[in-house]
Amino acid sequence: MSSGWEAVIGLEVHAQLLTRSKLFCPCSTRYGAPPNTHVCPVCIGLPGALPVPNRGAIELAIRAALALGCTVREHSRFARKGYFYPDLAKGYQISQYELPLSEHGTLSLAVDGETVVARIRRIHVEEDAGKNVHGTYGDATLVDFNRAGVPLIEIVGDPDLRSAAQAEEYLVRLREVLMFVGVNDGNLEEGSFRCDANVSVRPRGSDVLGTRCEVKNINSFRFVRKALEHEIARQAAVVAAGGTIRQETLHWSEALGKTVPLRGKEEAQDYRYFPDPDLPPLHVAPAWVERVRSAMPELPADKRARYATELGLTTYDAEVLTSHPGIAVFFEAAAGEGSLLGVAPKTVANFVQSLLKRDLMKPLLSGEVNRLASIAHDLVVPPREIARLVALVARGTISNRQANDVLAEMESSGRGAEAVVAALGLRQESDESALRAILEKVVAGNEAQAAKLRAGKSGVRGFFVGAVMRETSGQANPAVVNRILDEMFGGNAS
Ligand code: ADP
Ligand code: MG
Ligand code: ZN
Repeated sequence: MSSGWEAVIGLEVHAQLLTRSKLFCPCSTRYGAPPNTHVCPVCIGLPGALPVPNRGAIELAIRAALALGCTVREHSRFARKGYFYPDLAKGYQISQYELPLSEHGTLSLAVDGETVVARIRRIHVEEDAGKNVHGTYGDATLVDFNRAGVPLIEIVGDPDLRSAAQAEEYLVRLREVLMFVGVNDGNLEEGSFRCDANVSVRPRGSDVLGTRCEVKNINSFRFVRKALEHEIARQAAVVAAGGTIRQETLHWSEALGKTVPLRGKEEAQDYRYFPDPDLPPLHVAPAWVERVRSAMPELPADKRARYATELGLTTYDAEVLTSHPGIAVFFEAAAGEGSLLGVAPKTVANFVQSLLKRDLMKPLLSGEVNRLASIAHDLVVPPREIARLVALVARGTISNRQANDVLAEMESSGRGAEAVVAALGLRQESDESALRAILEKVVAGNEAQAAKLRAGKSGVRGFFVGAVMRETSGQANPAVVNRILDEMFGGNAS
């Protein structure tokens, strides 16, 4: 974008609350069931059916609000929002309007070395719509109501973001907070975390908001970034050429690589909100809020800080190990076991990072967010066994390389670290006198190489370590071999 213009972005995120049942009826929220099997008179809007709020959903919304620094209103209200599309049979969506559950939060981000405190305007509770399904029954559009009535929170951000990169980071951090506090599973493909992005441009230095366009329902972080970069450039070109931006609703077409209009804003948007007469005002007692606050799981930013200060990890380690709550759960369990075995958290952290690409970790990354501890415990190689394996390396019983073979065998056999080490006959040879004897024999048989090492050519050092490795079928402890080399060849060799 030309330097005279600045982008202004405000995001609206819809996040599904992790309840078993819907917001106003007992139907299941499970994803992927056959169409219209999770429905009842309430969620398909039969006349006379009355909604009853799901207390568990309200509690999760309170938790999300507190995690994002919002104030929870003691008295809020459900409202009907006019909605005349077939995927909600009632003709309205139950949402909140004038009195939302919570307001005035913040989310901190660091982008390109700059810290941005993005304000959150409000978080309210609402029901999801069903899904229009095209192309499975001739030209007809069918409606699957399984998702209708599923509980959502809408997190409305203030227009505080100034670039596509900041918007992407906002979404990454928001999703992370919601996942770590067990409110949302962060699954973009299944639509449980969705974003509408509002964007405008204005002359740099201005504090007046320009006319905005809204890019609807972007379902990947990469697309958010591409859509916003494209849209910012488009708007900047229009205003730079003296034109004006028309307020419209757009969607991102990945195929065309650009934003395309869905509908003009002027046609629609008379929601005719009014308080839902079927639902009493929502009362959230301050004591309830305090109970939720005191049971709040640790936030990812706090975890990162603790990993650095208490566990001695680097910022990078802490970032990787908190990139998903499943990884953090696994690492903390392994580090806890490790400390009982005298292994430093940093040692465990290094090993756990080497595991991240293995199948072993997959159940944790796709598992239910609120069951991660028990999923970790039930893995073929649970955190406890990883700690034992790391301890065997730390004590010098096996080498790092042997640890990989042991791990592979643990994964395929489901046996513990010590049992596998015994069964494979693995033992790292760390005995100084035994290794010295082998090394002396190698030196005697390779006088030319030994002369080079004596002359200070440290490049041949690897030759001797490798030879001892071969002599011991890979069981020599390389650290000990190197120490003996130092002793035999003095400072010249290093
Ligand atoms: P509406 O009620 O029409 O949805 P709001 O004023 O509530 O409009 O704003 C909705 C979202 O749009 C918020 O996330 C807000 O930050 C963002 N937004 C509002 N005005 C602008 C603007 N001029 N440029 C960019 N984003 C904006
Ligand atoms: Mg809106
Ligand atoms: Zn129902």
